[in-house]
Formats: sequence, C-alpha cells, structure tokens
Amino acid sequence: MARLDGKVALVTGGTAGIGAAAVRRLSADGAKVVFTGSNAAAAEAVSQETGAHFQAHDVTDEAAWPALMQTIAERFGRLDIAFANAGIEVGDGSIETIGLAAWNRIMAVNVTGTMLTCQHAIAAMKANPGGSGGSIIINSSINGLVGLPANIAYTTSKGAVRLLAKSVAVHCARTKTNIRCNSIHPGIIDTPIIRRAVADTTDPEASLAYLGNISPLGRLGQVEEVAALVSFLASEDSSLINGAELVADGGTTAGLVGV
Ligand code: NAP
Repeated sequence: MARLDGKVALVTGGTAGIGAAAVRRLSADGAKVVFTGSNAAAAEAVSQETGAHFQAHDVTDEAAWPALMQTIAERFGRLDIAFANAGIEVGDGSIETIGLAAWNRIMAVNVTGTMLTCQHAIAAMKANPGGSGGSIIINSSINGLVGLPANIAYTTSKGAVRLLAKSVAVHCARTKTNIRCNSIHPGIIDTPIIRRAVADTTDPEASLAYLGNISPLGRLGQVEEVAALVSFLASEDSSLINGAELVADGGTTAGLVGV
C-alpha cells in the first residue's frame, strides 16, 4: 500500500516547478490530486503524466474558491492534503525601488492566496466523511527566515506565511480539528523562477553556478527533494509535527556564506 493511498490533495500552482513536482510525488504516493494555475498547456502535460485533475484557478480570486472546492468535493468527496504553493516575485525590488502595484500583487498571491487556501482547506477537511482531519503545507522559503535585499515584497510575504502557518496550526489543534499545518523553507531550487532570474543576467551559466555555490552542498536543490518533504508532511509519518518550519536548503541558512 502506498503512503498516501485513499487521500485527496490540493496543490495550488501545480503547473510548474515545485508544485508540478509535488503533483507527481503525491500522485505516485497514492493520493488523488487536484492542482491549479493558469498555464493550460503545462497543466495538460502534468495531467497526462500523473492522472491528476487540473482546474484553472487564481489563488487570489476569492469568488472562484467555492467552485474549486465544489469540484474537489464532487470528484473525490474529501480533502486530506493542501499544499499552498502558488507564489510569485514578479516586479519586486528593494525598499527604495519597489512600486506599490508590484508589492500589492506579490502580497495578494503569496500571502492572501495562502490564507484563502488554508481557510477553504480547513472548511473541507472539517467536513471529511469519517471525521475532521488533514495536513496543510505552506511553501514559504529560506527568505521567510533571512532577508533578500533586492526582494522586499517577496521576503516580507514569505515571512508572513511562516507565522500564518503557526497561527493556523495552533487554532486547528486547539479546536480539535485533527488538522496540522506546517511551513516549508526551500533554499534555491532549480525551477522556472530561478531560470528566469538568471536569464536576465549577463552570464546566465555563471549566475546559475554562483547560486548553486551559495549552499554548502555546492549545488541547487531539486524540485523532487522539496516534493519528498511535502509528501512526508502530508503523511501520517509526520503526525506529531505541527506549527513547525522545515528547512530544505542544504545548510544554506545554517552558517555564514563562504565560511
Ligand atoms: P514557478 O516555477 O514559477 O511556478 C509557480 C507556480 O505558481 C506555477 O504553477 C504558477 O502557475 C503558479 N501560480 C502563480 N501565480 C498563481 C496564482 N495567482 N494562482 C495560482 N497559481 C499561481 O515557481 P517555483 O520556483 O516552483 O515556486 C513555487 C513556490 O515555491 C513559490 O511559492 C515560491 O515562492 C516557493 N519557493 C521557490 C524557491 C525556488 O528557489 N524556486 C525557493 C523557495 C520557495 P501558472 O504559471 O500556470 O499560472
């Protein structure tokens, strides 16, 4: 029997990068997965590969949440796992350069979208046949632990969802919902976000190598390594882990860079 047999999962932003890897891993571990995003072509490829169900959905669109949750209820009848993964850093800047439009959009997707994911996931998990229960995993970042000077909005948003996870965790435990909530903090992972960032530099290959060497392991993280952590937190193997922040960065935040 696979670790997540019989469980139903929602992955926000499952069309690319870490989210797509989580759709693959949760599906391989036996879960039925519904994933969201906007890129229909990329979604089709992930669905073909995994059998997971795609629904076009923007995490910030409050009015569209009931229809997404209705799809999950009608197709699968329950929700056990929610991976609040959708996140952006488009248009970010330093404290001196950030514009309000970019700040508001990053906060809307990374913070408000994560809050709405938790709110709707908890409502669905409380109504599970056989009793309330579930696991919510929030994708923060090592930038929820340490600041990036050139990315004020991203850093602030990732710090916010770190504590959002703790508030949700304590609320759900105190109200006896049997729902856990934890945040994960990946280091620099080889995904389209990172590839787009280095493509804008004068020497993308050198930039990629530089980013890899920030970790004491001397390499970028792989999406499958983050997806493995998501699967663990989704499973009963992590039943005592609640309100925790799990870092997956090869030791990047464990010491001083270069020392
Ligand atoms: P990515 O490759 O750019 O993928 C982002 C995903 O989020 C896509 O599936 C995208 O879907 C979706 N998305 C964006 N805006 C959305 C919205 N408003 N509603 C629903 N889905 C939306 O990024 P990634 O690197 O995998 O990052 C995923 C998460 O990991 C983010 O929260 C990011 O902050 C976090 N993270 C990344 C790293 C890293 O080094 N890559 C490190 C730490 C944390 P569409 O394109 O289909 O719209």
